Amino acid sequence: MPAAAPLPPAKRAAPAGAGAKAAPTSPGERLGLRSDWDFALHLPLHYVDETRITPIAQLREGRIAVVQAQVLQAELMAARRRVLRVTVEDGSGRLELRFFHFYPNWSRQYAPGKELRIRGEPRRGLFGFEMVHPVCRVAAPGEALPQSLTPIYPAGAGISQAWLRKAVAAALRRLDAREWLPADLLERLQLPPIAQALQLLHAPPPQLALEALEQRSHPAWRRVKFDELLAQQLAQQMARSRRAEQRAWPMPERGGGLVQSLLRALPFALTADQAGCVAEIALDLQREQPMHRLLQGDVGCGKTVVAALAAAQAIDNGFQCALMAPTDILAAQHLQRLAGWLQPLGVGVAWLSGAQRKREREAELARAASGEAALVIGTHAVIQDKVQFARLGLALVDEQHRFGVAQRLSLRAKGAGEQRQPHLLMMTATPIPRTLAMAVFGDLDISTIAHSPPGRQPVRTRVFSSDQRREAVKQRVRELVLQGRQVYWVCPLIEPSEPGEGEAGGEGGEGGQLGARPRAGARGGQPELRAALEAHAELQALLGEQAGCVGLLHGRMPSAHKAQVMEDFAAGRLRLLVATTVIEVGVDVPSASLMVIEHAERFGLSQLHQLRGRVGRGSQAAQCLLLFSEPLSQTARARLQAMHESSDGFVLAQKDLELRGPGELLGQRQSGLQGLRHADLREDEDLLELAREAAASLLREHPLAAREHLQRWLGAGMDWLAA
Ligand code: ADP
Ligand code: MG
Repeated sequence: MPAAAPLPPAKRAAPAGAGAKAAPTSPGERLGLRSDWDFALHLPLHYVDETRITPIAQLREGRIAVVQAQVLQAELMAARRRVLRVTVEDGSGRLELRFFHFYPNWSRQYAPGKELRIRGEPRRGLFGFEMVHPVCRVAAPGEALPQSLTPIYPAGAGISQAWLRKAVAAALRRLDAREWLPADLLERLQLPPIAQALQLLHAPPPQLALEALEQRSHPAWRRVKFDELLAQQLAQQMARSRRAEQRAWPMPERGGGLVQSLLRALPFALTADQAGCVAEIALDLQREQPMHRLLQGDVGCGKTVVAALAAAQAIDNGFQCALMAPTDILAAQHLQRLAGWLQPLGVGVAWLSGAQRKREREAELARAASGEAALVIGTHAVIQDKVQFARLGLALVDEQHRFGVAQRLSLRAKGAGEQRQPHLLMMTATPIPRTLAMAVFGDLDISTIAHSPPGRQPVRTRVFSSDQRREAVKQRVRELVLQGRQVYWVCPLIEPSEPGEGEAGGEGGEGGQLGARPRAGARGGQPELRAALEAHAELQALLGEQAGCVGLLHGRMPSAHKAQVMEDFAAGRLRLLVATTVIEVGVDVPSASLMVIEHAERFGLSQLHQLRGRVGRGSQAAQCLLLFSEPLSQTARARLQAMHESSDGFVLAQKDLELRGPGELLGQRQSGLQGLRHADLREDEDLLELAREAAASLLREHPLAAREHLQRWLGAGMDWLAA
C-alpha cells in the first residue's frame, strides 16, 4: 500500500464545513451530506495532478498541467468581445492565458511581475502555447506544492470544489475512523484499513496510477464498496434472524388430502421445476418458522398452480389462505382459475375488490371473517382494515414487485395472532438476476421455475419502423383476425392528454391508496402517442363488418366491464383486443397468438417481455411485432434488439440490469438500492458475494463489530431493516 500516511492532524483552524452546518440549506445539505461520515464518503469523481510544476517549455498539447510563471503583460482587448489576455513567462518559455469571462479587477490582480500558479490545458496557438480559462491564482511567496493529487468532487450548482475540499478535509480530521473490522478478514480479502482507504481516496499520493482510482478498481475503492455491501448484507441477515424467532403454524402434508386431489384434478402434469418448487414450499409450510419465499419464474411458466398447491396444503390443515394480486383483471383471473380448481373440491372462495358493491362486499367480508371462505382472493382490497380472517395461515402475493414493502407486510399482519405469523409466498414474473436478488432480497428464500412447460414455442419477435410498416402490419392483423386467430394490439396510453398509465389498472399501485386515481387528462400530455381509443376506432374501421370482434381494454374502465372484455376475449367472442398495459401482468388467454406493440421504444425491457409473455401460451406458434417511431435512442435500440434476440426472461433481466442499472429494474422504492452509493451491482458482483459471507461470519464471531459497522453505514433514511 503506497498510502500508509495517517489522517491529517486534528488541530487546525475550523474550516468552512463546520461553520456552515448551522445554516438551513448549507451546501453540504444540498448534497445530502450531514455527518462527518457523509462527507468522508463523498468520494472524488477524478483527480488533477497539481503536485508537479511543468516548465512551459515542456508543456504538451492537450495535457493538463500546472505552471508557475510571472506575468509579463496583461491587456484588455476589445475585439468583437472583450478578452483579457495575460502573458506569463517562467524562464523556460512564454505562455499566453486568455479569459473571456472575468471580473474587472483581474487585470490589476494579474499585473506584470505577479507570480501565478496556473492549471490548464495547453493548446498550440499562433505564438506558442496558450491556455483558455485556466484555473489561476497568485502564488504565495515560497508556496509549497501539494503532496497529493487534487480531488474533484461531485458537486451541485453553486457548490465550489474549494468549499467541498475544505469541508471533506475537516470531516476527515474529526472522523473516528478506527478500524472495527477484524484484521484477518481484511487480510483475507486484501482490503486496506478504512482510514487508509479514505485518506488515499481523498488525497492520493502523486505516484499512484490514476486509472485504478478513477475506474474504482483500486483496493481503497473496493474497501468502501465492500463496506457498503457489508452493511446491507448485515441488515438483511439480521432481519432474517429476527424472522427466525417468529413462529408460524406448522402445516404438515397430509397424504391423500386436498393437495393430492388437486394434483389429480389438474389437466396437466407438473413440470420438474414446478414439482421442485412445490416441494420446497411444502417443506417451508411444515416448519414452525414463517415461510418468507419468493417464487420466481418467467411469464407463463406456471406459477399459479404452484401457489394453488401451497394454498391447498394450508387449507388442508384448517387454515385460510389469502391471495393478493395487483390488478382487478389479474385478481379476477386468479379467482376464476383457483375457484375452478378448488371449489369442486369443497373449498369456499371469497372475492374482494375495490370495485365491489357494498352489499356484495360485506357478504364476502363476513365469509372471510367466519372462516367459511378458506381462500380469499382480491386486489389491495384484501389488506384494508375491515378485512378480517378467522385463521389466516398463508399469504400469497402475486407480482410482488407491484406492491410496496408495507403492503406485503400488512397482508401478513392480517394473520398475526397468538404470537404466530402466517407463511408468506410472493411471486414474481420479473425474473431477477442472481446478483440483484441477493442484494435486494438477501433475507428471502427463492424458488425458481427455470423452464416453461413443454410444447411452448418461442415467440418470434420482429421489430419494425412504424412509419414504414404500420399499414402492412394492420393488413396482416386483419388477415389473421378474419382467419379466426386472436390478436393483442397494445398501445401505451388511453387518451392523448394522459401522461402514461404507469400502474396497470390505476388501482393505487405502489401508493396503495385505493381509489386515488389521477384525474384523466388532468396533466397536459404527450399527444404524439397514439391513443388506444384512436387505435380501437381505427382497427374497427379496418375490420369493417367484423368490427364487432374488436375489443377495448384500459385501466379506466369499471372492473366489471374489464372482466367482461377479458372473458369475451378468452371465449373467442372478441378476436382483436386493443389494450393499454393493463394486460401486462399475468393475463392468460392461451389462444392469442399475435401481439402488436405500438411505440415499443417507450417501454422498458422487462415490460416488453411481460407484455410479450401474453402470447405463446398455447401450442400455436406465436409472434410479436414491435413497432417503433423515430427518434430511437441508443438504449431503446438495444432494448428492441434484445427482444428480437432473446425470449429468455433471465437473459433479458440481465440485459436490463446492464442497460438501466438496478434501481430502475425493481423500482427505486421497493428495491432498497437507493442506499447503494458506491457499489455498482453490475461491476461488483464478486464483492457482493464476499460481503454476504463476511456478514454471516461477522454476526457469528464479532457481533460487536457487526453492530458498529451497521451504525456507521445506516444513516438516516435507510430502511433496509424494514423489509
Ligand atoms: P405465470 O407463471 O405467468 O403466472 P400461469 O400460472 O398463468 O403462468 O401459467 C401459464 C399457463 O400455463 C396457464 O394456462 C397454465 O394453466 C399453464 N400451465 C401451467 N403449468 C403447466 C404444466 N405443467 N403443463 C402445461 N401447462 C401448464
Ligand atoms: Mg401469474
